[in-house]
Amino acid sequence: VITTTGAFLYVTQTQNSPPEQLPADKEKPTLVVLGSGWGATSFLKSLDTEEFNVVVISPRNYFLFTPLLPSVTVGTLEPRSIIQPTRYITRHKKRKVDVYEAEAQEVDPVKKTVTFQDLSDIRGAAGSVTIPYDYLVYAVGCENQTFGIKGVNEHACFLKELSDADKIRTKLMDCIETAAFRDQPQDEIDRLMHMVVVGGGPTGVEYAGELHDFLIDDLKKWYPEVADRLRITLIEALPNVLPAFSKQLIQYTESTFAENKIDVLTRTMVKDVKESSVVVQDANKQMREIPYGLLVWATGNTSRQITRDLMSKLTSVQTQRRGLLVDDYLSLLGGDGIYAVGDCTATSYAPTAQVASQQGIYLAGVFQKLGQKAKLERQLAQLRATAAAPEEIEATVKKLNRAAKLTPFHYSHQGSLAYIGSEKAIADLPLFNGNVASGGGAAMLFWRSAYVSTLYSVRNRTLVLADWLKVKIFGR
Ligand code: NAD
Repeated sequence: VITTTGAFLYVTQTQNSPPEQLPADKEKPTLVVLGSGWGATSFLKSLDTEEFNVVVISPRNYFLFTPLLPSVTVGTLEPRSIIQPTRYITRHKKRKVDVYEAEAQEVDPVKKTVTFQDLSDIRGAAGSVTIPYDYLVYAVGCENQTFGIKGVNEHACFLKELSDADKIRTKLMDCIETAAFRDQPQDEIDRLMHMVVVGGGPTGVEYAGELHDFLIDDLKKWYPEVADRLRITLIEALPNVLPAFSKQLIQYTESTFAENKIDVLTRTMVKDVKESSVVVQDANKQMREIPYGLLVWATGNTSRQITRDLMSKLTSVQTQRRGLLVDDYLSLLGGDGIYAVGDCTATSYAPTAQVASQQGIYLAGVFQKLGQKAKLERQLAQLRATAAAPEEIEATVKKLNRAAKLTPFHYSHQGSLAYIGSEKAIADLPLFNGNVASGGGAAMLFWRSAYVSTLYSVRNRTLVLADWLKVKIFGR
């Protein structure tokens, strides 16, 4: 059984399916996809490429399972466990897909072109290239919001990309090692062992939880001389953390954090970031300085430069600073042949992975219909040219009308989950026409199984489960 299963896994992991992909076809329209995040990847996974020449452009050639990124910062999960190469998806498509690891720099909605550049700094790196598109799926996501606060880019670590998790992990270990170095002054040990997280949204909360676990499970054994000096502070400008969750779950999170000795400073706003301290303003408008060793910045997202440039080319209809405006079918207002999904859009939904992924699947359905339409139009032209029977022509026209009919995008909220540390998670679930809020060990099990089942491949599921098991047995 093991041999058969092994052989099956080997075949599914290494062989293309179909073995021979159709080559590019000049007669078919070019569909350019910008991005490899939640929106673009769920779109690509569901897309039937037969009727299109597809080109994917993204600065990273893999999909990153962002909900588990905080776990990488402390070594609970290995980076490779939560990524899936984009080519792993595209090589299973009917028609060959071109994938370029490059950054899109400009979209010209009038000429219908995209300009992109190879960002690698090795010799022979390609320069800037401009290609035409017939259809563009714009799924570039967002960048970190800093509100223009001085020093954030220079001194804080973000938590968005795999490289950020790596940077945090290195900096965290540097802080601890330096604090444990001989003859360090006491106040310097306290500063180095103070980890500050700014932003009480799900990203900041999950990171603080992971950091706490690392302290309890590992740091005490490995660095007994400084472990007791570690402090975690979460700074949030609003009156409470996790504003999008129910009151009960907010209270549960805050009391779990209090038990875990994570200081939560609410109604406190970071105003300035220095190399080893942050300047904050508290509820009484008092300013004070808080020294830190590691600073993690998780205050949400804002539009990328390329998105702002695109908006500025369509000012008569693109009037929202928050993101791109799309219609009910995810077609960009003012953009001929452009569709937009995910965090780069401004819709009535929160900018979450769940929304982006449902939009991607929906949009693949729109393209399925566009493909069907193109096929039926060809058939109809042929039927008319050969003077086929009127009933046959009529039946094809009916099919064509059906293919042209689209239903608007509808988001179905499956609930929100967040890990809060010490084997506890919170779950806000819209079940039985009401909200079920749950926290604790059961929610943790649910969190684990929900995330594992959402992971896109058997390979990722196996790697994540193996990492969790490894941590249980050997520590981080
Ligand atoms: P967020 O926008 O949800 O939260 C950022 C927080 O930072 C806000 O509460 C804001 O008040 C605070 N803030 C901003 N400036 C500040 C300052 N100067 N000082 C102190 N606090 C400040 O950001 P996020 O957590 O990165 O989440 C982004 C999106 O991704 C959200 O839609 C979120 O729901 C989603 N997300 C969901 C999950 C999950 O469900 N598990 C995990 C991560 C992200």
